[in-house]
Amino acid sequence: MTDYRRLRVALLGAGAVGSQVASLLLRHADELADRAGARLELAGIAVRDVGAKRDVDLPRELFTTDAESLIVGSDIVIELMGGIEPARAYLLHAINSGADIVTANKALLATHGPEIFDAADQVGAEVYYEAAAAGAIPIIRPLRDSLAGDRVQRIMGIVNGTTNYILDRMDTEGAEFADVLADAQRLGYAEADPTADVEGYDAAQKAAILASLAFHTTVPLDAVHREGITSIDKSMMDAARHAGYVIKLLAVCERLVEASGESISVRVYPALVDRKHPLASVHGANNAVFVQAEAAGNLMFYGAGAGGVQTASAVLGDVVSAARRHIAGGVGVGESTLANLPIVPIGRVTTRYQITLEVDDQPGVLATVAGTLSDGRVSIATVEQTVVSDGNGEPGVARLVIGTHKAVEQDLSDTVARLAASGVVERVVSVLRVEGD
Ligand code: NAP
Repeated sequence: MTDYRRLRVALLGAGAVGSQVASLLLRHADELADRAGARLELAGIAVRDVGAKRDVDLPRELFTTDAESLIVGSDIVIELMGGIEPARAYLLHAINSGADIVTANKALLATHGPEIFDAADQVGAEVYYEAAAAGAIPIIRPLRDSLAGDRVQRIMGIVNGTTNYILDRMDTEGAEFADVLADAQRLGYAEADPTADVEGYDAAQKAAILASLAFHTTVPLDAVHREGITSIDKSMMDAARHAGYVIKLLAVCERLVEASGESISVRVYPALVDRKHPLASVHGANNAVFVQAEAAGNLMFYGAGAGGVQTASAVLGDVVSAARRHIAGGVGVGESTLANLPIVPIGRVTTRYQITLEVDDQPGVLATVAGTLSDGRVSIATVEQTVVSDGNGEPGVARLVIGTHKAVEQDLSDTVARLAASGVVERVVSVLRVEGD
């Protein structure tokens, strides 16, 4: 057996991901030593309750509640506790104690990323976070390293498995949102409190991380426009299917090039995706990130966006990278914020839309709607009208599904507000963006 240098590894957290990381570190110790060029010695595992039952059997003597002491003297600290505090304080303590850090904590990086990256920069340490944006899917390293010589133009990601599971079942089974959510909770795909997933908070954190990397710009979480999927119902799903689309919760990170200069937009919302687009075939709780780069063209990264052992794979990849860096020496690469492009508000974003209206089934109504759209600088690409009879032989209600050409979001929302207030529109059923062309 090769006599490798020994690196002390501290693990904070032994939940769904941490317990699997510990198990893999112990089971594959020899192989990992050969790959890393260093023996990764698991010095201890900090948890809240040392007596708690774990997903896998782990040596009792490794557990401690004293994270602070475990961190001191460690070469690599893996944080898999989640949440903001004390994770943030422990990571800063680890960096200042001379360790490289590995974390899967999207909530922390999306809110305190700059503070942590700055602290690491000060001492030449490195922060690894491959598991923080899309679980097992390698996307951080491709953006940070593989595409470092290219210019990313756009990222469209399905980065939340719970919402993709719900929308996929609504699409394929014609089910209602509330029924699928209840099922997802029973099966463990959704939390008892599903807010972080269904309201898009989790996806927004991941969008902030991906956009920061892709555009070399610090993207604060509150600069990410966020909408969830709770308003999506069966009729919207049916209408989308009828028009050749599927509804997906997308994290869109986009470079905008205007005469005045470059800027970026980062947004999370349910959008219509053409059924022929690769993202349309992402089913169940899977994730995928579709990247468009100037030279590389279109790239798609697909796989498990969550799961204890799957996520542990990404974490271990980071641990091996950190170990190799320790052996090679030198300072960490650091986060690039060279560009620091301005982030535009949602109102300045340009996309196509599908507007569904219920209008009076009267002559001239279509002309009024078309005129209002045109006055608002929204150009119509397609119109489909279905008349819903009131059953009494009286003029009924017509449903208009209008596909637009690209329009500016502010123009579109002002125009829809004018339509809603006009005498002819009974109800604005839905307004959905069309993404992916
Ligand atoms: P988890 O199952 O809730 O486990 C959290 C672990 O951290 C537990 O072992 C807990 O100890 C420990 N812990 C929490 N607060 C602590 C404190 N104050 N002091 C010491 N230990 C503490 O979490 P997880 O699902 O493994 O997720 C870990 C991280 O990975 C999170 O940042 C999450 O966002 C990220 N992530 C998770 C997944 C996934 O599929 N689960 C995917 C991608 C990224 P006790 O066990 O004693 O309570």
